[in-house]
Amino acid sequence: MVWLACIIALVALVTLHFWWRGRFLREQERTVREIDNLKRIRQLQEQSAIQSQARQKTVFNSMVEGLLLLDENSRVQLANRAFKKLFGMGNEIVGKTVLEVLRSNELPKMIDGLGAHQRWLEREIKIPGASERWLQVSAATVLNAEDKREGTILVFHDLTRLKQLERTREEFVANVSHELRTPLSHIKGYVETLLSGAKDDPQVSVRFLQTIERNAERLKLLIEDLLTISELESGRVQLNLQIFPLRSVVDKVVEDFKARATAKSVSMTVDMPELRVNADAGRLDQVLANLVDNAIKYGKAGGQMRIGARETNKQAEIFVQDDGPGLPVEALERVFERFYRVDKARSREQGGTGLGLSIVKHIVQTHGGKVWATSEPGRGATFFFTLPMAP
Ligand code: ADP
Repeated sequence: MVWLACIIALVALVTLHFWWRGRFLREQERTVREIDNLKRIRQLQEQSAIQSQARQKTVFNSMVEGLLLLDENSRVQLANRAFKKLFGMGNEIVGKTVLEVLRSNELPKMIDGLGAHQRWLEREIKIPGASERWLQVSAATVLNAEDKREGTILVFHDLTRLKQLERTREEFVANVSHELRTPLSHIKGYVETLLSGAKDDPQVSVRFLQTIERNAERLKLLIEDLLTISELESGRVQLNLQIFPLRSVVDKVVEDFKARATAKSVSMTVDMPELRVNADAGRLDQVLANLVDNAIKYGKAGGQMRIGARETNKQAEIFVQDDGPGLPVEALERVFERFYRVDKARSREQGGTGLGLSIVKHIVQTHGGKVWATSEPGRGATFFFTLPMAP
C-alpha cells in the first residue's frame, strides 16, 4: 500500500515537473518574443526619428532664407546651408552665441524681446563690417510639448542688394536733379538779367541769348540721354540685329564727325580688316558716335584719333584711340558709371552729360559684348568693345 502511494506520488511529481517545465519554456519563449518585438519597435522609432531629422535638415537646407536654431541659452544649435553661405561660415559656429557669430547688438535684443506674450518679432537690421549687410530678421520662440520655451528660431532674408538698388536710385534722382538744376538756373538768371534792362544793350543781349541757347541745348541733350538710359535699363529694348560690314557704320560715323574733327585739327584714321558683324546698326552708330565724340572732346587739339578692329574668339573687337591727356587708373572702370566725370568742369564746358559711356556700356552689353578702357596718362586713352561676328 505504502509502495503504491510512493509510486503515485513519484508519478505525480514527475508529471508536475514536466508540466512546470513546459510552462516555463512557453513563458520563456513568449518573453523572448516580446523582447524581440520591443526591440523592433525601438528600432523603428529610432529610424523614424533619424528620418524625420534628415527630412527637417533637408527642408532647412533647401530654404532660400538663412536659418539659425538657438537653444534655451541662445547658443547656435543648427545653421542651415543658406545661412552659412550668406555669411561665409561653417559648422564652427555651433555652440557660439548670436553676438559672437554676427556681431550685432540688435539680435540679442530681439531674442530678449521674445517672451510669453511676444512669440514672434520682425526687424530690419544692419550688420556692420567691410561687407555691410542689410537683413530682414524674423525671430520666433520654439516651445516644447509643455509649452515651455526651448529655444529660438531666426530666419534671415538678405536685403543688401535691394538696399543698394534703393541707394543707387536715390543717388540717380539726386544727380538728375542737380544736372537739370544747373542749366535751368543759368537760363533763369540770364532771362531775369535781360528783363531787368540788359535786353536794351544789343551786344550784351546777344551774348546772353547765346548762353541761354547753349544751356537749353544742354538740357535737351541731357533729357535725350536720360530717355535713352531709361529705355536701355527697362530691358524692353529690342535689338534690330542684322549682318553687315562693320566698316560701313564706322565710315558713316567718321563722316558725321568730320567737321568737328577739322575744327579741332584732329586727324581721323580707320584701319581694320573686313569684318561682318551681327548687330543693330543704329545702336552701333550710337556707340561709335559717343566714343568718337569723346576722343575729339577730350583728345589733343591737332592730335590723332584711330579707329581699328580685329577678330578675336569669334568676336569683333573694336577700338577708338586718342592721344589726349588720357585717364587716371582709378577712373578706367568708373567712367562707365552714370554721371561719373574725371574733370567735371571740363565735361560741362564741352557740353557733356556724363551719360555717354554708360549708354555705350548698356548697348554693348545688350549685344552680349564687353567694354573697357586702357590709358597711359598723358599719352591718350583707348576704348575697346566687342560685338558678335556674323556666323
Ligand atoms: P561726358 O558727357 O562727360 O563726356 P561720358 O560718359 O561720355 O560723359 O564720359 C565720362 C567721363 O569720362 C568724361 O567726363 C571724361 O572725364 C572721361 N572720358 C571719356 N572719354 C575720354 C577720353 N577719350 N579721354 C579722357 N577722358 C575721357
